[in-house]
Amino acid sequence: MTLQVTNTLSGDREPFEPQDPDSVLLYYCGLTVSDFAHLGHARSWVHVDVMHRWLEHVGYDVRHVENFTDVNEKIVARTGEDDLGDTESEVARTFIGEVIEDMRSLNLKRAEVYPRVSEHVPEIVDLVETLIEKGYAYESNGSVYFDVTEFEEYGKLSNQRVEEMEAQGEESERAEKRNPADFALWKAGEAHPDNAGPGGQTWDSPWGEGRPGWHIECSAMSMTHLGETLDVHVGGQDLVFPHHENEIAQSEAATGEQFAKYWLHVSLLETGGEKMSSSLENYFTVRNAVSEFGSNAVRMFLLSTAYNSRQTYSEETLSEAVERWERLERGYDRAVEAVDGVDARTKVEDGDLRAAVADARESFAGAMNDDFNTREAIAALLELVSAVNRHVDDRETYDYRALRDAVEAFEELGGEVLGFALADDAEGDVRLLDELVELVLDVRERERESGNYERADDLRDELAALGVEVQDTDDGATFRIE
Ligand SMILES: [Zn+2]
Repeated sequence: MTLQVTNTLSGDREPFEPQDPDSVLLYYCGLTVSDFAHLGHARSWVHVDVMHRWLEHVGYDVRHVENFTDVNEKIVARTGEDDLGDTESEVARTFIGEVIEDMRSLNLKRAEVYPRVSEHVPEIVDLVETLIEKGYAYESNGSVYFDVTEFEEYGKLSNQRVEEMEAQGEESERAEKRNPADFALWKAGEAHPDNAGPGGQTWDSPWGEGRPGWHIECSAMSMTHLGETLDVHVGGQDLVFPHHENEIAQSEAATGEQFAKYWLHVSLLETGGEKMSSSLENYFTVRNAVSEFGSNAVRMFLLSTAYNSRQTYSEETLSEAVERWERLERGYDRAVEAVDGVDARTKVEDGDLRAAVADARESFAGAMNDDFNTREAIAALLELVSAVNRHVDDRETYDYRALRDAVEAFEELGGEVLGFALADDAEGDVRLLDELVELVLDVRERERESGNYERADDLRDELAALGVEVQDTDDGATFRIE
């Protein structure tokens, strides 16, 4: 069976056929870098990562581009806060550094390019000029808007009719627009000295000083790095309208070509009945989740629901995933230990285990080709864990070849495709180390509470001598390991 995907554009399951049979052009709408990444972002990242890995596994050369939105009012709003930076670009740079660290901690494969809006303003201006020349966009009071009534297929992704569409943009733009659903491609704005303050960065343009609108950036960046037609465009479910609808309108109006063949949307992560979101403050940051549960367990949690099914975060659903990860890890370790203890010349054959390895590979591939169903793919690996356990529990002499094939299947499917760090003990060691330092800090806190300040200071100095730097803050002691 070949890969089938659910295309939001048609609303149907379709066979996956990229333009070039050997390569896939993939664009993912990345983060607005105004805060730390939370588990909702990680859900999209990990699923896109596994799509990338599976496409490579079945033989495609994947060109993956993922942007950072570094021009946005939310970033401007954080200037001057703590040590984030005094200008929009400084704050963006701060968070890009943090976000890259989070991506690494989740073992994501690197994209080929991580373009930033601030570096693509000339391409954006060119695209807006083309849209004006072709009659799809108009200048008004120093801003430029896309006229949604000029693009006949507007609404085709979100299945809406222009006449019934809600207004887009700010109330203040209303007087400048021909139609309420028109959206800004370029926003007039005053230059601010040193790019600080409420306006953020501005650039020169044929329409005067201003900033790019949000949607145009992805059209400009994806076409710059991947060409006029993408094979796969991925993004969060919440971006279907207006963001992706607008990307299609701008790009197809400008080029006359189809913008993206397949639109795949990752469902949202919910918690307590709401979408996990920075603005709701109901979120769990990626780094807190990884430091508490480890990167593998977080991946296991996020992949335990298929990308286009809704997922709910709760302590319970996360701890179930931790158990599932531990089961997979133990199964793999057992197979490795068993195979290392067997003479390769053994004549023992266990038909059940051999069949289980073949079944696991077949079910795994079937699940991934069924619209990247990671939930079923994980189930296939856990079936193999059960088969390995039965083999090792029931027998005194092991089937070398079957166990070796099982180890290979775990490493290839669980490691390379699902991105688990199977043979890596370092993660568990780091967690144990953190917990031990926390323990010493608890003891120190109790010494202080009982008035034994000298003993508490000694503990701090002893930790420092071991390379653990302790800092006392209003919320208690924090530490950093050199
Ligand atoms: Zn985008």
